[in-house]
Amino acid sequence: MPGARVWAVVKADAYGHGLGNALRAFDAADGLSLVEIDRAASLREGGWRKPVMLMEGMFDRAEIPTVQQLALQPVVHNDEQLAMLEHASGTPLHVHLKINTGMNRLGFRPERAREVWQRLKSLPIVSGISLLTHFANAENPQATLTPQVQLQRFREGTAGLQAELSLSNSAALLMQSQIRCDWTRPGVMLYGGTPGGGSAQSFGLKPAMTLQSELIAVQDLQIGDSVGYGSLFTADRPMRIGVVACGYADGYPRHAPTGTPVLLDGVRTRVLGRVSMDMLSIDLTPVPAAKVGSRVTLWGDGLPIDEVANAAGTIGYELMCAIAPRVRREVRGA
Ligand SMILES: *Cc1c(COP(=O)(O)O)cnc(C)c1O
Repeated sequence: MPGARVWAVVKADAYGHGLGNALRAFDAADGLSLVEIDRAASLREGGWRKPVMLMEGMFDRAEIPTVQQLALQPVVHNDEQLAMLEHASGTPLHVHLKINTGMNRLGFRPERAREVWQRLKSLPIVSGISLLTHFANAENPQATLTPQVQLQRFREGTAGLQAELSLSNSAALLMQSQIRCDWTRPGVMLYGGTPGGGSAQSFGLKPAMTLQSELIAVQDLQIGDSVGYGSLFTADRPMRIGVVACGYADGYPRHAPTGTPVLLDGVRTRVLGRVSMDMLSIDLTPVPAAKVGSRVTLWGDGLPIDEVANAAGTIGYELMCAIAPRVRREVRGA
């Protein structure tokens, strides 16, 4: 979006990629945006001097001194947060007034925008006010609650208020290129994932995260032999299967059924049977030379996370965020 500034969204440990990695990778961003106040403190400790937005604002008035000390910019989305500011004093804060234009998650209804704005404006603790709203369906052209409907409500509620405006998430940036705003709020696209409605490749996105493991056992199955808990997969021919050291305790989705794609030495094959805590089983048929130690890619390079997520009935976001602490992280190109 020409001329727009970027809030790089780094909530949930930078969508599972590690906040420290994001801090380096997003050096060129105009601001970083997240939910967790303790992680906002880590950003400041890590040397980030540019703006930091707290997208859910303060959860408790006791957080206000920290917000002031770290010069964080809280969203104000409800009356409780407004009251917290009305009873606070000290270092002024830049705040983001959130308008609920149909998502019905956070924000004041458009018809209250003016009143809340005036109340914020009158507070010595408020040094500046920006506006934001969030789209529910930027990736879905069939939706009745389109970004255009939401923008219309937003404009009606906020007409005449002089403020910078933050709108587009990844879906709006990728699929609603006519929308303009002062600040964008991309998240998943910065990590090479898609918000749905198209493939990462078609948008020119490259995966930042690759989840890999290796085979730790090989089994030769006879006709009628089954695999894993619940015996959900049964061989209808003699076949070799491999056991991969990766399970739901690493963040691999337990709901990934037989057929979910994986790469074995770069060759596409499939999950067999139920994913267990520390292991999952795969079909070795396409790679007869596979053996203990063979490299397995669960997602990332050569296998879009969205494909795996789709097979497991979820979205890439959830898989990225669920990578468990025990998974060893290596930063490539660092
Ligand atoms: C998470 C979030 C974003 C980023 O969304 P993506 O779909 O990852 O681009 C933007 N704005 C708000 C308010 C969010 O909560």
